[in-house]
Amino acid sequence: MGTEILFNKTKMVATVGPGSRSKEMLKALIMAGVDVFRLNFSHGSHEDHQQVLDHIRNLNDELSTHICILQDLQGPKIRIGEVENGEVQLEEGAELTITVDSILGSAQRVSTTYQSLPRDVQVDDIILIDDGKIEVIVKSFTDKDVITQVVHGGPLKSRKGINLPSTTVSAPSMTEKDEQDLQFALKNDVEWVALSFVRSAKDVEYLKDIISAAGKNTSVIAKIEKPQALREIDDIIAVSDGLMVARGDLGVETLMEDVPMVQKMIVSKCNKQFKPVIIATQMMESMIESPRPTRAETNDIANSIIDGADALMLSAETAVGKYPLQVVRSMSKTIQSVEKTADIYFKHRKLDSKDSNFYNNNVVLSACRLGRDTGAIAITGMTFSGYTAYRLAGNRPKAHIFIFTANRRLLNTLNLVWGVRSFYYNNMESTDVTFADVERMLKEKGWLNKGDVIINTASMPIKGKFQTNALKIAIAE
Ligand code: PEP
Repeated sequence: MGTEILFNKTKMVATVGPGSRSKEMLKALIMAGVDVFRLNFSHGSHEDHQQVLDHIRNLNDELSTHICILQDLQGPKIRIGEVENGEVQLEEGAELTITVDSILGSAQRVSTTYQSLPRDVQVDDIILIDDGKIEVIVKSFTDKDVITQVVHGGPLKSRKGINLPSTTVSAPSMTEKDEQDLQFALKNDVEWVALSFVRSAKDVEYLKDIISAAGKNTSVIAKIEKPQALREIDDIIAVSDGLMVARGDLGVETLMEDVPMVQKMIVSKCNKQFKPVIIATQMMESMIESPRPTRAETNDIANSIIDGADALMLSAETAVGKYPLQVVRSMSKTIQSVEKTADIYFKHRKLDSKDSNFYNNNVVLSACRLGRDTGAIAITGMTFSGYTAYRLAGNRPKAHIFIFTANRRLLNTLNLVWGVRSFYYNNMESTDVTFADVERMLKEKGWLNKGDVIINTASMPIKGKFQTNALKIAIAE
């Protein structure tokens, strides 16, 4: 089966929604190259998500794939309430009161779901509504009301999101809904959980503590979409298993024109720390309605790969768009084209640094160096924790990275990570046997041909479960 499914090094994350949740469509998306399905818990019931999750798990069995699931927790998303007839018109210069009272909104007074809003805001704070299309400025506040003046008006629809770029939001990082949704994910052994609106490393640690208390080791992605998170980015990267550059909210909470360089900064820091990083939002936005992407979208994909992204994410394009399959095919074709020459642009991939972790990191670095110098087709790693896989991927070798593990959960988890393809393997007899098995398995799957150079890494003695401390170069027979 393996070779029938596309295998790009840059991974594709597709959000599942009404446009893609049938088993047939999920299968088609996998065949077109999707590596990770994102279940967005801002929408849908647990029943809906359970059905999708079951389909994905069944498809993994049927197709012998390791597609992983990324749960996206809604986080403390702030919204306005319902308004008269579903839409009211806000005029520039007019006064608008945002209240915590439960009312049906008008052009003068609307409600919010966020009870602490009057306590959190200061005079002159900016409040953005509906992805920043509407902007108001705080003039005064009482216990229950925030009195604002409309800076940019327009039509305001019910339940639109509020962003508070200049306000220190006191809401806890996880809402009651998030806690319930997380329990759903833990029960279902979802591989990755993404936390929205992360402000500090503490937010990530709080989530990780709940996961550990449940006896799980679900990997955590911090979604970077708040200016506060940018100020603490190093600490957040240190405690997270991966990051998402959530450009949708980031482009509202910070200046949109700053987002490209912020993306580069975050990706570069993640690459240096060997943490996977996803670029998200509006990658193929026009394909929600159109069967072909714009040139700018194609360029955005290419530039994100060259920046060093592990994975690229599709949101509405696959969740509710008209062309979910075409958008994945189109993204995949661009990835393939870029990857033909992308390695020459991977500036961070210097392969010359020394590393304090004497065994693993230096052996992995040497394997990548040797792979480069010999034109190796494959670099292999054995790991239970995944450490060697993340280290190999972080060096962005030109060779394919094949990971062999007895950790079944890791097989899927690694599907998010750049360049990694994983196999179940649990024969820890001797390195000779393992290396022979690895070569045979790769040949059977069509990844390796006679004469190809292969670099094997492992720990010796293999029974000891030590860090990766050995490498072997071989020519496939
Ligand atoms: C984003 O804001 O870019 C994002 C991915 O978050 P969400 O889709 O949850 O709004």
